Amino acid sequence: MLNKKLVFMLITDSRDKLRQFHISYRLIFALAIIAAFLFIANILLTTSFVRSQVASLEIKKLRSENAFLSKKFEDLRGQVSKITGIYNELVEKEIVIRNIFNLPEISLDERQLGIGGPENMGVEISNTMQLANTAETDIESLLRLARFEKEKYEEVFNVLSEKRALLDHTPSIWPTRGYFSRGFGVKFDPFTGNQQFHSGVDIANRTGTPIYAAADGTVKFAAFDNGGLGNLVEIDHGFGYVTRYGHMSKFKALKGQAVKRGMLIGYVGSTGYSTGPHLHYEVIKNDRQVNPMDYIVSIK
Ligand SMILES: [Zn+2]
Repeated sequence: MLNKKLVFMLITDSRDKLRQFHISYRLIFALAIIAAFLFIANILLTTSFVRSQVASLEIKKLRSENAFLSKKFEDLRGQVSKITGIYNELVEKEIVIRNIFNLPEISLDERQLGIGGPENMGVEISNTMQLANTAETDIESLLRLARFEKEKYEEVFNVLSEKRALLDHTPSIWPTRGYFSRGFGVKFDPFTGNQQFHSGVDIANRTGTPIYAAADGTVKFAAFDNGGLGNLVEIDHGFGYVTRYGHMSKFKALKGQAVKRGMLIGYVGSTGYSTGPHLHYEVIKNDRQVNPMDYIVSIK
């Protein structure tokens, strides 16, 4: 078939000559292949051109995104450094609190445990990636430091709460107003010639003068005392402290009641072994009677 030929006859105007063209099928076939090839090549080129146009648009878009992200990361780092500033102020405050309350110091090494340099990714990285990387590292280490600092603040808070509780439960005020009529300790009685131990202090005042709790605690006794103290209130403050208030005319506090410093617990009277209305006030520390004057820091 390919060896066959097509014959074209060309008749010109002049009619003097008849032209004949012989075209082999082989040539037609070859031309067809070339045409098909050109057609496909054209499609491919067009597609690739369009693609490259799209790609260059994409690149433009990515570049602007990249610039935007770089800017964002810069901003982010700026904000991180502001937060770091605030964080450092918190640390300074914590150090001051530690100094005031004699709490153990924390070494700089321990504080900086959280700080690490940016990770080396081992590959060539772009500026934006580097920025992103640094921002991430900054935030991570700040987060670690913040967690550490939170723990330290909790420590300080717990110690101070403990101290606060101790202070609230330590007798520290005059339990009533009046005339200081007798002190604590051994006293020579010129009438009997005996040495007598006085287990508290006496504050004399009119019957009905209010008596206040010297610190926070729980009333563990509020009844008549047969030992001579008459109507007696005993408050357990915890931390080894107990206070006792004797010779009351009337009770205000009840057994088992929780009381706060300065709360009304009863009234001055002269019940029990007493020669006139006064409050007998005792402070007991770790089961030993101590001088109440050592536990009066303010005037009530
Ligand atoms: Zn007394």
